[in-house]
Amino acid sequence: MTIGQVTYLDGPESVQLKAYDLPAPDDGDVLAEIVRANVCGSELHIWRGEHPHIDNGVLGHEALCRVVETGGEVRDSAGNMLSAGDLIVPAYFATCGECVQCGRGNHQYCENAYKYWSRSPDEWPHFHGTFGTHYYVHEDQYMYRVPPDIDETAAAAANCALSQVIHGLDEVQVTMDETVVIQGAGGLGLNAAAVATEIGAETIVVDGVAKRLERAREFGADHTIDLTEYDTVEARRDRVHELTDGLGADVAVEVTGVPAALDEGFQLLGKGGRYLVMGNIIPGKEATIDPGRAVRKSINVTMTMRYAPTRLNDALTFLSKHGDDYPFGELVDASYPLSDVDSALRDSANREVTRATLVTE
Ligand SMILES: [Zn+2]
Ligand SMILES: [Zn+2]
Repeated sequence: MTIGQVTYLDGPESVQLKAYDLPAPDDGDVLAEIVRANVCGSELHIWRGEHPHIDNGVLGHEALCRVVETGGEVRDSAGNMLSAGDLIVPAYFATCGECVQCGRGNHQYCENAYKYWSRSPDEWPHFHGTFGTHYYVHEDQYMYRVPPDIDETAAAAANCALSQVIHGLDEVQVTMDETVVIQGAGGLGLNAAAVATEIGAETIVVDGVAKRLERAREFGADHTIDLTEYDTVEARRDRVHELTDGLGADVAVEVTGVPAALDEGFQLLGKGGRYLVMGNIIPGKEATIDPGRAVRKSINVTMTMRYAPTRLNDALTFLSKHGDDYPFGELVDASYPLSDVDSALRDSANREVTRATLVTE
């Protein structure tokens, strides 16, 4: 194949497939073909035109790729030599190594994180996103070779939710025997339940959909709280306290994307609790909080977006060790050919499917 295709978002909810000659990779870069690319919730924000920085460009960030060609000798970010045919996962953002944040070692805050992502596909090397036949991985993107024992479906989601959750839970230093309450049983919530379980924590997952709670139990949740049964904040607060000997949770993880969840999280936590907030990523929505109540419990709040890029390697290690203990492969419930990318996006937005994946015909 010498020509490939990419999905171009030319305005809110409007995509078209565009064809380009495959680029020969520059020194240190990799041209890869897409094995599968998932439609993530944050992709839908971009598609709808809600993202604060990206309003057009090539779509797609979650993917499992196969190396087609390397620009000279290229090693992955763990030092493994890459060659054609290797499966890899790239971090979806760039780490320029030159900005103030990169200089401080805060690679997840790189000022140039989106430098390739938001480019027009007409601009070389064209394949800026993963909703396509191919993806061009630049030298300043972390990338890792995927061990052969990892399920392909699980590997395709490693560079988003799982890496994010591993990073976040490490930021709030979850330890064995602590209680972690997870607000929301979507992709991030399920991954958080599995990772917290493997750390040895006791987990409580809160959600309003019975099917999602059932899934949460498969991902390690020790207890679940159904919003339709515990239908007030007070009822949920009381239930969490009941499950934690009256103390409240040690750690809360907000992965709902619902602004009102923030104040509720403060109420589910006990004294000295740590609150990891990752679910609300689109500015413009407001929430009411009672700061006095939070301060009186001395709650430590950590808000985080993206991940230290080496977390992607930790995510692969996690899947190698524990991937078979949780139904990661079942998180994707619908496959679409690339030519049907519009339906994949629409069905995901309408919640007709939970997690769509695009495969190249
Ligand atoms: Zn994502
Ligand atoms: Zn940087």
